[in-house]
Amino acid sequence: MNEKSSGQSEVIFGPVPSRRLGMSLGVDVIPMKICSYDCIYCELGRTTHLIIERKEYVPEKTIVRSMERYFAKKHDAPLDYVTFSGSGEPTLNSKIGVLIRRLKELTDTPVAVLTNGSLLNDPQVRQDLMPADLVIPSLDAAEQKTFIKVNQPEASLDVSDIIHGIHQFSKEFQGEIWLEILFVKGVNDHPDHIRKLSEAARLINPTRIQLTTVVRPPGKGFAPPIDMDKLNEISSQFSGNVEVVADLTRHGNPAYKEDKGNDVIAMLKIRPMTLEDISSSTGMHRNEVIKYVDQLRREHTVNSVEFSGKTYFTIDRE
Ligand code: SF4
Repeated sequence: MNEKSSGQSEVIFGPVPSRRLGMSLGVDVIPMKICSYDCIYCELGRTTHLIIERKEYVPEKTIVRSMERYFAKKHDAPLDYVTFSGSGEPTLNSKIGVLIRRLKELTDTPVAVLTNGSLLNDPQVRQDLMPADLVIPSLDAAEQKTFIKVNQPEASLDVSDIIHGIHQFSKEFQGEIWLEILFVKGVNDHPDHIRKLSEAARLINPTRIQLTTVVRPPGKGFAPPIDMDKLNEISSQFSGNVEVVADLTRHGNPAYKEDKGNDVIAMLKIRPMTLEDISSSTGMHRNEVIKYVDQLRREHTVNSVEFSGKTYFTIDRE
């Protein structure tokens, strides 16, 4: 992994203010975009490697070195969490267990893992996540047909096994589990399906259930959000500690800062750029760039166009 010109490493990003995790330092253990899913709403764009094989996609040594370097320095900003997330599914990194343990030696800050939960049926994956303090698995479907529509998973994945895996993990894990469910209008919001999801959530029995919807137009296809009234109505069908989180971002994106947004606008006025282009020009992590592009798209300042299989962001020049 290269060091960015700003001095920020590709592996560590932030700390950035996050709505649900406070000040969170991100550890990205998966290169763009290796995932076991290709969700229709994914803000990172299309999955280029749809796989379930666990490997050291980013070498353990590289990640440990980045973490050690970060924690060797004194930082003024207080941290609420160090969060394993990534440009894909973090549990696909076969060294995640070693990495979490090493991190716990380096800092007392609680460790969170954002995962799509697809590998939790594997006892080794569950074991790897044991030293974490908080695990946030997502679950958008409770039946295979809907699972395929919304998450477009790797062919061998079965959603019943995944629910079983998350349930098993919740029985074994000593920390907190926040189950995140994202609704896409017309895809996984049918009343029968909501009932099945609510039954799955009851079985898993997480510390919290967070319901959300698409907050941005994704870089491909069409994944419409459901409206807030409907999301609130759905929440009444779930039992336990349920909350509606309107602006939840699945990859732990940072909060918006005006000056950085203006930098993105200035660059896009010169030429259309992909997420990668903006990231390498600004030194911001891809997940950080997404936040700015999302906000600017919501304000209709920035448009996106597909060209040769890539999403380019553009801005109308005055
Ligand atoms: S939203 Fe997360 S789980 Fe879904 S495709 Fe994107 S990276 Fe993978």
